[in-house]
Amino acid sequence: MVYLNGNFVQKDKAYISVMDRGFLFGDGVYEVFPIYNNNVFGLDSHLNRLQAGLDAINIKNPHSNIEWLGLIKKIISFNKDINQAVYLQVSRGCDDDRKHTHNILTPTVYIQSTGIQPRTKDSLLSGKSVISREDIRWLQCNTKATSLLANIMYSQEAKELGSEEAILYRDNVVTEGSSSNVFIVKKDCIFTHPKGQHILPGITREVVIKIAKLLNLKIKENAFDMTSLMNADEVWITSSTREILPITTVDNKIINNGLAGPIWSVIYDQYQSLKTLKAVSYTHLRAHETPEHLVCRLLLE
Ligand code: PMP
Repeated sequence: MVYLNGNFVQKDKAYISVMDRGFLFGDGVYEVFPIYNNNVFGLDSHLNRLQAGLDAINIKNPHSNIEWLGLIKKIISFNKDINQAVYLQVSRGCDDDRKHTHNILTPTVYIQSTGIQPRTKDSLLSGKSVISREDIRWLQCNTKATSLLANIMYSQEAKELGSEEAILYRDNVVTEGSSSNVFIVKKDCIFTHPKGQHILPGITREVVIKIAKLLNLKIKENAFDMTSLMNADEVWITSSTREILPITTVDNKIINNGLAGPIWSVIYDQYQSLKTLKAVSYTHLRAHETPEHLVCRLLLE
């Protein structure tokens, strides 16, 4: 079952108009919520980013956070997998004709959920391979827009070359992956590109930063170049569905000793323990407290 504009319907019965601007222009934003043991992981952070995306492209949020949570819970309930990825998309809606400009429209809301099988730690110890490519995307990468043409072309190329991901660089500076954020470790210090127009502010990235700080690890939101990446002690990519993946090969060159590193291992374990905390749910939150804050507070108490 999927959700489309107020109705829960079978996927093959869910239709949108050809006049939908999501279809015609990719005029919309989306979110992906990871679900572990039927709990939404990082709900507030994802809803905040959805709001930021809607604001950025000037679409009025069609639902309150409580309503979104109700829809997400319902869509999860149709799927028997305990771990799922909920995909939620809001497009500007349908106009009466195809033209670049638009009138005030009723947004189209689409939600689906698919089962996910998080990878085991053992399967990650030898790490994954990536390719690197020049980042030719627009300068509003912080908006989670459905128009992902450049990203999907990089992802497809990586897949066809047997790689996990394409890591992107702009003027030799590593920005992010085609669908992930990038971290390196050098001399026990973790680096990741700062937030801004060049990267999507990943929720997993944010959780990793919080974990690192909680564990008193050195972490800097500083940009680094391709040479630093190639000479790093550790390279990881992060995303809601892939969590924290160690990268041991870049453009067929082996990073360090070709194995997942010790700092990745510590952060990975901590991330896994956060996932199991039932507290990561909207209803348990204190006012103004994000799920990650709550978890960090619980860990510290
Ligand atoms: N950057 C890009 C371009 C992405 O598509 C994603 C995944 N949506 C990320 C980073 C990671 O974001 P998150 O951790 O919120 O999944």
